[in-house]
Amino acid sequence: MSERKVLTKYYPPEFDPSKIARTPKHLRPTGPKTIPVRLMAPFSMKCTSCGEYIYKGRKFNARKETTDEKYLAITIYRFYIRCTRCSSEITFKTDPKNMDYTCERGAKRNFESWRNPESEELKETDEQRLDRLEREEMDEAENAERNAMEELEEKMEESKREMQVADALDEIMQRNARIERGEKGGKEDQALVQVRDLAREQREAEERADAEAARRAFDAANVERARLEEQAKLQAQPVESAKESPPAPSFERMRKPKKSLVPGLVRKVEPAPISQPVVPPKPAGLDLGDYGSDDD
Ligand SMILES: [Zn+2]
Repeated sequence: MSERKVLTKYYPPEFDPSKIARTPKHLRPTGPKTIPVRLMAPFSMKCTSCGEYIYKGRKFNARKETTDEKYLAITIYRFYIRCTRCSSEITFKTDPKNMDYTCERGAKRNFESWRNPESEELKETDEQRLDRLEREEMDEAENAERNAMEELEEKMEESKREMQVADALDEIMQRNARIERGEKGGKEDQALVQVRDLAREQREAEERADAEAARRAFDAANVERARLEEQAKLQAQPVESAKESPPAPSFERMRKPKKSLVPGLVRKVEPAPISQPVVPPKPAGLDLGDYGSDDD
């Protein structure tokens, strides 16, 4: 391998460099350089050779070329694309002045209504544009100022009105309270007097009625009692003899006969004393002895 490399560097004796037509790269003349780029059509256009419409945003493999033209030290580039139908070359350039592109060859840019050349905005010069912008800015500032002033005035007016309303309301409320107090006092007294009169009258009437009723009742009761006594006197002797006055209730404890726990089952035991059978008390000393003793 290494030998071959050496062999390729062999120049025969009859080698004449001047006979070589090809010039080295650094000696070749530099023309307009083009770089292949991928781009989208920046505007919609119509091919002039076949009438094909190329819409804005269509993608192309294009060649980008740097031109010698400049706008305020901004380089202007030229792009080469090919028509999608007839493959004829279309070129367009950047337009830094209008922040746009200009169609150069092979196609015609479609009409865009918002770029109407008749419109004043496109026709106006830089001076005019500056003037216009300045004027607009001034107007805006003035408007803002005026708006602020108007707002402030409105606020003041509003607060003034609110205070007035509050004052009026306060006054009305005070007056109402005063009126109510005065009227209520008179009315209450009147009503109280009326009610008292009414109550007294009613009480008197009731008392009268009661007295009447009582008198009548007493009369009636007297008559009735007399009649009853009469009757009682007539019937008293035989009835009272036959009747025996019930024995005076004694408050001694009565022993109820014990009920059998189970009906039909009766204990054969004699009627034992109801009192609990007395358990003979154990000798107190035996308790512990019982527990501990082992003499059984
Ligand atoms: Zn075409």
